[in-house]
Amino acid sequence: MKRDGVLYIISAPSGAGKTTLCKEIIDIFPHLRHSVSYTTRQPRPGEVHGKDYYFVTQDEFRRMVEEGEFAEWAEVHGNCYGTSIRTLEECRTIGVDLILDIDIQGARQLKQRYEGGVFIFILPPSYEELHRRLNGRSSDSDDVISRRIDAAAGEIRESRWYDYIIINDTFSRAVEELKSVVIAEKCRTSRVLEAVTEIFHIG
Ligand code: ADP
Ligand code: 5GP
Repeated sequence: MKRDGVLYIISAPSGAGKTTLCKEIIDIFPHLRHSVSYTTRQPRPGEVHGKDYYFVTQDEFRRMVEEGEFAEWAEVHGNCYGTSIRTLEECRTIGVDLILDIDIQGARQLKQRYEGGVFIFILPPSYEELHRRLNGRSSDSDDVISRRIDAAAGEIRESRWYDYIIINDTFSRAVEELKSVVIAEKCRTSRVLEAVTEIFHIG
């Protein structure tokens, strides 16, 4: 059944487990792809240009902003990140579903701009657990970790306007919940009605 691709926009306070969950869900659903963003941040060891991000200079990023190439963009932790309109349009027309792992500022822009996006907020079970996960990841300094914890309350307040909230307590349960959202959204009447109308001549 032919239909437009779905955009799943996923945000979370840093350390909630968003990256781990997104990877898992992409492995489960073959029709789901990770939207590759543009960023001015330096690649981390192991990150690949074109797969994890398109790593661009500040001049190139600014040019893209000026020429209106981004569906959304934001400055996060001192670097710029953006989703290109072309990426979204290409996936929509070929019917591929996309996971956008983006921050709250970017999600807000898409909420205003795109109808039909599915907005999902991932939460840790508590501040204590968030702290443990940020420490356990051991990729950030103590200073960076405390800044992320300080930012968390303000970010969590924004969860109220998302369509779904998933508490990432037990990982397997969070995966099940995310899977359920993806499956339910694919059956949403507004996404399948056009095809149904055509097949059953009910126009
Ligand atoms: P984010 O992308 O939201 O910043 P990550 O996916 O990097 O977070 O996860 C932060 C840390 O928490 C990682 O070490 C990850 O393995 C761990 N983690 C993720 N989900 C869970 C969970 N449900 N229970 C325990 N640890 C988890
Ligand atoms: P990181 O540098 O750790 O990969 O990502 C830092 C933050 O930037 C994360 O919260 C991530 O969701 C966000 N981010 C990644 N890509 C984009 C994007 O295209 N747009 C916006 N607004 N945020 C993004």
